[in-house]
Amino acid sequence: MIKSLFGLPTKVQHCKKCLLTNQKPFSINETKNFKGSKKSGLEFKDGLCSACHYSNAKDNSVINWEKREILLRKLLDQHRKTDGNYDCIVSTSGGKDSSTIAHILKYKYQMNPLTVTYSPILYTDIGFKNLRAMINIGGFDNLLFTPNGKLTSILAREAFVNLLHPMQPFKFGIKSIAAKTALRYGIKLVMFGEPYYEYGSAKLSLDIENSKPSYDIDWYVNDSDDIYFGGTHYKDILKKYQWIKSNDLYPFMPLTSKDIENSRSQSLQVEYLGWYLKWDPQEIYYYASKNNGYFPDTQRTDGTYGRYAAIDDKMEWLHYYTHYIKFGIGRTRFDASQEIRSGHITRDEGIALCKKFEGEYPKRYMKDCFSFMNLSETEAHKIIDKFRSPHLWKKVGKRWERLQELKEIIE
Ligand SMILES: [Zn+2]
Repeated sequence: MIKSLFGLPTKVQHCKKCLLTNQKPFSINETKNFKGSKKSGLEFKDGLCSACHYSNAKDNSVINWEKREILLRKLLDQHRKTDGNYDCIVSTSGGKDSSTIAHILKYKYQMNPLTVTYSPILYTDIGFKNLRAMINIGGFDNLLFTPNGKLTSILAREAFVNLLHPMQPFKFGIKSIAAKTALRYGIKLVMFGEPYYEYGSAKLSLDIENSKPSYDIDWYVNDSDDIYFGGTHYKDILKKYQWIKSNDLYPFMPLTSKDIENSRSQSLQVEYLGWYLKWDPQEIYYYASKNNGYFPDTQRTDGTYGRYAAIDDKMEWLHYYTHYIKFGIGRTRFDASQEIRSGHITRDEGIALCKKFEGEYPKRYMKDCFSFMNLSETEAHKIIDKFRSPHLWKKVGKRWERLQELKEIIE
């Protein structure tokens, strides 16, 4: 019987509507310690994945968007400040989604948001230009926090070598910075964008009309000592790298209950604007370019057909590529699936795009990423190849061949 790595299902199931498969990991498991087996993040019912079920519910008016907007106005009325203090935090790299959230809150609902940026690991020129555009054209106050680069390099390397997930420590940091900054400034509202079930990280049993997304508790508050960076327990990191002190790790750590008790903002609320307002990624792009001066990249993103999503960190190019190696789901497939769900392209067009671009080697920034982690290209590729699951890849001569061909989707 064919075996799989990381407990992935050995039989690949494709969604009938979009192009995602049951190999997509549950995002929380993907990004925290996953020494144990991993569950698929996508559940299927009637051949459709949970992201498509959610998308259908949005379009078929299961959700009363007018009622949701009234709830949003109520929530914002409770928090709005006009005395010069900030009333909410929006965590943003200057990307299209987060800059749009900040703009809507400030200019449509007259809030006074503080935008907070947890610096990408390796800012691209276009990414930094978009951050400046958000500040200068959109018009926002912004705090740019850049964690210790020497430490980030080590954590990224650990996560790459052990999990083939170099962005894992960054994901820890970015998830918690909004709440940490809110506590520090006595701000009681944090606003994120799209609910995570937009991308399928939800249970099919979810009562879409009535349930609300909750901020992932493991990121937000974690009182246990069970915290791993790149598959290595943080205490082992401290032992392995003597110069690193536990204080250094704080920007990557989740909050503890004590942090919250000690703060003035015990009633901190973490909300998702995409729960209150209908979220269309394409419209958000148009909104961001019109209002925040958001620029698409000057060239097509390696591994996909677009040039305007997740372009602020060079590591994103490597991150999506590792996703393709580990789970057989490349950057094209994520982009195309989202556009199929929102009705901008057909499934056949999505398949054609996958055939053309999926799995393309992201040569533009690979060397920068490897050298940041102190790895030679040869070393890095040896590591990458260790994560090719035998149910997805076969070595033919010197080449790796993908076993799950696209023709299986078409049938
Ligand atoms: Zn689907």
